[in-house]
Amino acid sequence: MPDCLFCKILEGRIPARIIHQDELAVAFEDINPQAPTHVLVIPRKHIASLDEAVPDDAALIGHLHLLAARIAADRKITRGYRTLFNNGPMSGQSVFHLHLHVLGGRPMTWPPG
Ligand code: 5GP
Ligand code: ZN
Repeated sequence: MPDCLFCKILEGRIPARIIHQDELAVAFEDINPQAPTHVLVIPRKHIASLDEAVPDDAALIGHLHLLAARIAADRKITRGYRTLFNNGPMSGQSVFHLHLHVLGGRPMTWPPG
């Protein structure tokens, strides 16, 4: 995918602190963490946002969430963590390669800003 930051991380062209990789997905530390744990879980497949996902991506999207739960367990933050996709510029999405934020390790407020 031309000029996609997260595709470049997948290809190893931009460094990242990768904490998990498998055939479908990669998880790495967010460069600007908003909580003690702030990990991004991304599919190897380039999908710009949830709006571009198709029914065949359902298992892949489920896989991202199950990985998030595993990361939360590893980090011992299961008392309270948040998983979220930002979708579209008004949500704050800035990188248009689907990424699941996994945030935790501090009290989380609601509603999010
Ligand atoms: P969004 O705002 O699109 O939902 O989230 C993009 C996230 O990617 C932000 O939390 C931002 O800090 C993170 N990010 C942006 N550039 C890089 C980078 O080069 N490396 C890493 N590890 N994270 C990045
Ligand atoms: Zn991409």
